[in-house]
Amino acid sequence: MHILLVEDDDRVAAALRPALHRHGMTTTRLARGRGAVDHLSGVDVVLLDLGLPDVDGVDVCRAIRAVSEVPVIVVSARGEVDDRILGLHSGADDYLVKPYDVGELVARVHAVYRRRRVEAASADGAPDVLEVDGVSVDLTRHTVTVGGVSVTLTRKEFQVLALLASSGGAVCTRSRIVAEVWGRSWAGANRTLDVHIATLRTKLGRPEMVQTVRGVGYRLGLPGGG
Ligand code: CA
Repeated sequence: MHILLVEDDDRVAAALRPALHRHGMTTTRLARGRGAVDHLSGVDVVLLDLGLPDVDGVDVCRAIRAVSEVPVIVVSARGEVDDRILGLHSGADDYLVKPYDVGELVARVHAVYRRRRVEAASADGAPDVLEVDGVSVDLTRHTVTVGGVSVTLTRKEFQVLALLASSGGAVCTRSRIVAEVWGRSWAGANRTLDVHIATLRTKLGRPEMVQTVRGVGYRLGLPGGG
């Protein structure tokens, strides 16, 4: 996987690149935003710093989105809610606040990459079915089978499962699941998510398939696999 890293901070780039390389990724680094759209060829995921010296990262994101469907993860030192909304409305696929954990970043990179591939496959008219270790999620018909046996889920349970399945074994953070399935966070969100995970495990009949990643979130797949 090839990453375009748009980051003006030399120290951040110097720390990040070896970490990404250790995870099997290659990188191109740009220290400025201007001209980033000219470097998208062969790029699988863009990591875009919002605070750039020459142009606002939000404008870079819009410029990229105008010419390409490449997944963009906005990275920002600012943790303001306004920035988050701005980042997502500029066409970014995900958003990370500095300082972040590299493992979390790598998981997000895999997640947006796989999600975009799923979208591309469905746009191509390919069957819109995600398969993970015997669990089959049909995104068009909203049906689920486990080992070929149909399982009935509520709409929210299905959405949680589809999100986990589309991440292809990468961890989905609790906050991302809540944001994508419920569209907002609220005081009882964590408890509600716990309940949905518990019923999902029961209904799938294979509780070990929905793995808890302590302190982070959940991933779908057999323990030790993927
Ligand atoms: Ca910066």
